[in-house]
Amino acid sequence: MTRFIPCCALASLTLLPAQNATTSLPPVIDVHVHAMDADFPGAAPMCPNTPQFLASDPATKEAPFGWAPQDCTPKLYPAAKGQYMHEVLAEMRRLNVTAVVLGSPASVEKWKDAAPDRVIPGTGFENGMTPGARVPLDQLRAGFTTGGFKVMGEIGLQYEGLSPSDPSVDKYFALAEQLDIPVAIHMGTGGSGRANLTSPKFRGSMGNPLLLEDLLARHPKLRVQVMHAGYPMIDNMLTLLQANSHVYVDVAGLIWSYPLKEVNRYIQRLVDAGFEDRVLFGTDQMIWPKLMTYSISLIQNADYLTPQQKRDILYNNAARFLRLDKKPGR
Ligand SMILES: [Zn+2]
Repeated sequence: MTRFIPCCALASLTLLPAQNATTSLPPVIDVHVHAMDADFPGAAPMCPNTPQFLASDPATKEAPFGWAPQDCTPKLYPAAKGQYMHEVLAEMRRLNVTAVVLGSPASVEKWKDAAPDRVIPGTGFENGMTPGARVPLDQLRAGFTTGGFKVMGEIGLQYEGLSPSDPSVDKYFALAEQLDIPVAIHMGTGGSGRANLTSPKFRGSMGNPLLLEDLLARHPKLRVQVMHAGYPMIDNMLTLLQANSHVYVDVAGLIWSYPLKEVNRYIQRLVDAGFEDRVLFGTDQMIWPKLMTYSISLIQNADYLTPQQKRDILYNNAARFLRLDKKPGR
C-alpha cells in the first residue's frame, strides 16, 4: 500500500516551518480528528493516495484494503508507542491547527485537557464498536448542554448498513436540531477495497448523500457535515448541496486514501459547481501524526484553487459552520 508521494506535496513538506514556529502560519481547522488514546491496533507505515485498488481472488487470502504495494519516500509512520496524542497535538501546534476531536466522552476529554485551546470536542450516539449499541439520549443531551461538547459525530450508520434517515435514530438528530449542535455523518468512503472482509455490514449504497434528504426534511434547521464528501457519488452530493444550504462536506479520509488525480478532480468538481464556501478541510487523523501536514499540503498545492479558496477550505468555511467566536483567518 505504498507509493511515491507526488512532487508538489513533497515540495510543500519541505517548506513547512521548523518546530515551534507556529505564529506566522495562518490558522487551519481540521474538522475530523479521532480521539485515539492508544496506538491504533495493527498500525503500519503508509504511503498516502494509493494509485490503485487491486483485484483479488476469494479463493486466496485477501489483503484487507487492496492498496497497490509500492514504496515511497517519505512514508507516514505511526506514532511511537504511547505517544500518539502527544505527537498529533505537537503537529497541531506546529501547523497552527484547531481540530474537532471526535470519540467517546472520556477519550475526547483527555485531548481537551491536554490542549484546551486547540480541541473542539465532539461525540456521537453510537456506543463503542458494537453495531446498534446507542448512547442513552439523556446522557448525550447532558454532554451537549453541560459537558462542553460542540459537534455530534462521527455518526457511522453506514457501517451498520443503515440510512441516516432511519427512524430508529431520529431522536438523536431531533436533539441536535433542538440544541443547535451540528452533526457530522460518515457518508461514502470507508469500505474501500474489501468491505466484505473488514466491515461486513457496511453498505456503499447507505453512503448515498441523497439518503440525507428525508432527515433534512424532518429537521430543516439541522446543520450537517457530510464526512468524506459522499465520495464517490459526486452528482448526488452536488444535488444535495444545491437543495440544502445548511449542508457542508469535509474531505477527510478521501484526501489521502484515493488516487491523487481522482482526489483533486473530486474537490475541484465541488468548487467548480459553486460550493467553495461549504468544503471543509479534514484529515480523519487516527494513526499517522504527519498525515496532517501531508493533507494540508494537498490543498496548499492545488493549482485549481485560488489563494482565497484555499483559505476558505482550510479555515473560513469551518469557522462559519462551527460558529467559532473568532475572526476569519484571511
Ligand atoms: Zn468516517
